[in-house]
Amino acid sequence: MEYNYEKLLDRAWNSIPEKLRSMSRFEIPTANTFLEGNQTIIRNFNEIADILNRDSKHILTYLSKELAAPATFDGNRVIIQRVLRDAMINKRIEDYAKEYVLCHECKRPDTKITELSGEKIIRCTACGGWWPMKKIK
Ligand SMILES: [Zn+2]
Repeated sequence: MEYNYEKLLDRAWNSIPEKLRSMSRFEIPTANTFLEGNQTIIRNFNEIADILNRDSKHILTYLSKELAAPATFDGNRVIIQRVLRDAMINKRIEDYAKEYVLCHECKRPDTKITELSGEKIIRCTACGGWWPMKKIK
């Protein structure tokens, strides 16, 4: 009996539920920015928050602290009171994703914030792993 490996792979791939397939393609979003005077504007902040599936206020608070600059919402955009390179912002978004979104055990993004004995934790719905949600200092 001959096997067509392409077809076998297709079949294996197609038997994975849609949700899992989309997770395996997860990519940490990057900022689309431009400078305006001494400010850096992130054009696609809402999109970043949607992909990370976290509260945009929480993400902004984190970025503001990490980038040591005040940041405010302006519609879909975010204005940071500092001149920043994309790489600096993207590094912080990546750090955020690693701390608050991607499972610390299986690395999948299918996690949610919940509570355990009154403490906020992040739980992975894929592997069941969880870790305490770090407070933004
Ligand atoms: Zn996990």
